[in-house]
Amino acid sequence: MPRSSGNVLENNETTAIANPQLDQAVFLERTKLSFTNIPASIIATFVVAPYLLYVNRDIYGADLSFIWAGYMFLTMLYRYVIFIAFKKDMNRYSLQIWNRLFLVGVVSTAIGWGITGSSLMLTESLQQQMFTTIVLAGLSSGALATLTPLYSAFVLFTVINMVPLLITLLNYGAPVHYATASLVFIFMAFIITSSARMAKTIQDSISLRFQHDNALKVVAAKKQQTDELNLNLRQQINERELIEHHLEYSMSQLKATLESATDGILVIDNDEQVTNYNQNFIDLFDIPITLIEIADFSQIQGHINSLLKDKTPVSPIDTDQVVLLELKDGRLIEAFSKPQKIADQIIGNVLSYRDATMRINSESSLQEAKTKAEVANKQKSEFLSRISHELRTPLNAILGFGHLLQEDNNKHLDTDERDYISHICVAGEHLLHLIDDLLDISRIESGKLNIDLSNVSCEKIVNESVALVRPSTTERNIKIIIKSDFEVMPFIQADHTRCKQALVNLLSNAIKYNKESGSVTLTISANASHVHFEVKDTGAGISEDSFKDIFQPFIRLKQTEKTKGTGIGLTITKRLIDIMNGSIGVESTPGEGSTFWFELPIASTVETVSPMQNIKYNQNSVMSADKQHTILYVEDEPLNQALLKSIVKQINNTRLLTAATGEEGIEIAMAEQPDIILMDINLPGISGYEVLKVIKNDKAFSKTPIFALSANAMPNEIKRGRDAGFFDYLIKPINIDNTRHLLKNTLNMIDNDLI
Ligand code: ADP
Repeated sequence: MPRSSGNVLENNETTAIANPQLDQAVFLERTKLSFTNIPASIIATFVVAPYLLYVNRDIYGADLSFIWAGYMFLTMLYRYVIFIAFKKDMNRYSLQIWNRLFLVGVVSTAIGWGITGSSLMLTESLQQQMFTTIVLAGLSSGALATLTPLYSAFVLFTVINMVPLLITLLNYGAPVHYATASLVFIFMAFIITSSARMAKTIQDSISLRFQHDNALKVVAAKKQQTDELNLNLRQQINERELIEHHLEYSMSQLKATLESATDGILVIDNDEQVTNYNQNFIDLFDIPITLIEIADFSQIQGHINSLLKDKTPVSPIDTDQVVLLELKDGRLIEAFSKPQKIADQIIGNVLSYRDATMRINSESSLQEAKTKAEVANKQKSEFLSRISHELRTPLNAILGFGHLLQEDNNKHLDTDERDYISHICVAGEHLLHLIDDLLDISRIESGKLNIDLSNVSCEKIVNESVALVRPSTTERNIKIIIKSDFEVMPFIQADHTRCKQALVNLLSNAIKYNKESGSVTLTISANASHVHFEVKDTGAGISEDSFKDIFQPFIRLKQTEKTKGTGIGLTITKRLIDIMNGSIGVESTPGEGSTFWFELPIASTVETVSPMQNIKYNQNSVMSADKQHTILYVEDEPLNQALLKSIVKQINNTRLLTAATGEEGIEIAMAEQPDIILMDINLPGISGYEVLKVIKNDKAFSKTPIFALSANAMPNEIKRGRDAGFFDYLIKPINIDNTRHLLKNTLNMIDNDLI
């Protein structure tokens, strides 16, 4: 649009500079409006042109009329074509080009109409002049509506359309023509200013519409932003609500946890201000609620201190320490303290208070019951020990003298009497066995059997066991065969006495339940970890069903009922083997015999045999023939003294001195310097232990072997005796042969300076 077109456009240009985008948009809109009005203009031309041709037909003549009509048709066609082209593809050309094309149409049409104004010069008819003036004015009025959006087009159209008419009218020079010309001029001025105002209004309204649309877009964008912000805010609120909910839940959970704790709990911060507590705490110390509200720990502690039995107030509880609070009402409260930590930072302390009254009371009654049970157990052990002692003491005399009578081959005794003595000895041995077994079983049952595991020579176990059972083979002519895989038998990890007891038991059974002139085969073998002892007999055998039963206490098989027995030997044997970490079993073919076996772990190191063990069983030892020996026996029981006298009587050049009390024993020992001392433990006055202590204190006796000789066979007593310094601990009833050999060998070793 040309810049010189008027103020409105200049203002518009200012707007355009201020807002080129808006200006462009408005320009587009105005162009669109103008193109939209093309059909109306064409229709107006199409309607008005025939009238004009008809009224002025005499002026133009046929040829001119045809040329003019053709020209007008071409302008209409041109305008129609650009209308269609614009409508079809507006973006084909720039707005400037479309504008120019539009102006071409407007100007050519205006020229067509302007020609009709000039053609009036050729007529004198006022009617034709007025008609044409009105038509041209009407066309400009119409153009006001259709061309105003493009103000410059309207101005061009009106000027080209009206100016020739104006000039023609002025040419006539008549007053009516002057008047008409001046009116036409006024009309032109009027419609051009109207058009300018309308153009501005159109421009403003378009501009306003755009601004409004923009404003709407801005509002929409703002609204979207606000909506997004709202959404964000809602999300944040939701998250916050969720966090608050979690927090609330955690708090309730913490509270519920505190409340479900059985202890009273008080939580304080580093400034000793209460931050949490549970009802148990309040109830435990009956804390007034006002005190809790003050939340000052020192005041709460003051209240707790006022409840204490002991007036000394309890200082703040140290971490990891349990403080026992004894309350006036008798309750015992245990107080603990643990630091409250977040990450590594200590933020306070958690104090727990527990009513331990019942527990502590029941602990003390439990302790009381335990002490009572221990006392009762001790009493039972003492009772067993006493009974054993009491039974063994007379048995010592019975068996001792019985054996002496048997040994003596006493010519004063007839056959019957010797048989009687033999019965006494067998019955005595049996009774002794029973006592031992009963003691063992009671010890095992009460878990009091002491086992002293050490490296034990299998050879020694085998020799000693076989020696013990051999006498019982003669009566029914049973043969004992020993088979061994070894040149030197290995050592096992076992208790020497208990292992021997187990093997003796199996051998005794194999002899006892054998047939006349049968055999007992003892086989010793080993694998990488265990030594295997196997005792095979040629007896009646045992059915497989009975394998389990025979290891149960007091169970004896019917077939063997006639043979003497108690039914606890195998029970004890099995328990002993179990305790020594071994295993035991039986295989049997009824009618052919039974094989009992046990195995014990091989010793990791080999122990040398103690000289004492050699002494006891070395039956070939030789004593110095002419040297006089003295043995002192401290014993209050005259029968036992007499028994030992009989034993010593058969050792050459040896005299026996006796003392009935410990004090007397010390006196005689000091005066006579005996070679060997045999010491009873239970003496009237001072005990055998005290006598031992006194004698051992004297250097003159440093090498003198002092044997304990006691009826107390409890293992702990034996151990005590050995630990106290006795050379060995001999148990009553003593074996006549063994005791004699022991004494002989000990004297022999003394003579040879081996002790
Ligand atoms: P006791 O021999 O004193 O009866 P044990 O506990 O040693 O007690 O043996 C239990 C039972 O097992 C015996 O009564 C006997 O019936 C049976 N028994 C044990 N060893 C043998 C054996 N070698 N041959 C046949 N039966 C045996």
